[in-house]
Amino acid sequence: MVLACTVRNCVSALERRERMFVCTAGHSFDVARSGYVNLLQPQDRRSLAPGDSEAAVQARRALFDAGFGAQLLVVLGDAVAAAEVGAGARAVDLGCGEGTILAALAARCGLEGFGIDISTPAIAAAAKRHAGITWIVSNADRRLPFEDRTLDLALSIDGRRNPAECARVLRTGAALVVAVPGADDLVELRTAVLGEARDQDRGSAVAVEFAAQFELVQRLEARDRLHLDAVGLEQLALATYRCGRTREREALQALAALTVTTQHTILSFRRRA
Ligand SMILES: [Zn+2]
Repeated sequence: MVLACTVRNCVSALERRERMFVCTAGHSFDVARSGYVNLLQPQDRRSLAPGDSEAAVQARRALFDAGFGAQLLVVLGDAVAAAEVGAGARAVDLGCGEGTILAALAARCGLEGFGIDISTPAIAAAAKRHAGITWIVSNADRRLPFEDRTLDLALSIDGRRNPAECARVLRTGAALVVAVPGADDLVELRTAVLGEARDQDRGSAVAVEFAAQFELVQRLEARDRLHLDAVGLEQLALATYRCGRTREREALQALAALTVTTQHTILSFRRRA
């Protein structure tokens, strides 16, 4: 068994039975019509509709469908392949959003995928498009809905990180792949609209965060350039929560098009014994 009940202080094993998940203590969670399960407890959310909005989810998906993130996906696939977790490996994507990345990696590497995100619109969109993966509404910042040391791979792409929980749910020798924006990520957008240029490099900080229980194996980079028209730029602003101020929105709307760099640092770790 892999999943664990999220009812406060329960943590019993959770198993799928037809259209619901049931724990050994008798708590049950319905599977939604589109195929996901909501394991989010009221104490683990700060609003009634936490996480990405429907508009942000659709904007992000439109960008992926237009080729945004393609190079990141290639490098993530290389990182997972190099980790040699094997076909059928149990993999969780923490903060999976609308599921494009996990679905592609699961297909390329033969993973048994679990996608977790706090946004119901994101998980619903993931479930509608990608069958064969367990899509779960849950807060990846809190206790993860998995039993101890049951997973072979954890992914964290542009998300908040939870080293202690990653260590708890991954078995010894399991892989952890973390991607964070690099210093040049969206540099043209930030220069043109936000009046700031290079960002900080977060890779070294991530290595330190996980050092106690994970050995750093490999550090990779994904860099891409994508030409976005006005619609694409609007989607980028929505998907990344940028350009929220009036002055920034006006600067964005004045742009007819922009070629935008994306850059990620990808760190591959192995769970120590
Ligand atoms: Zn329970």
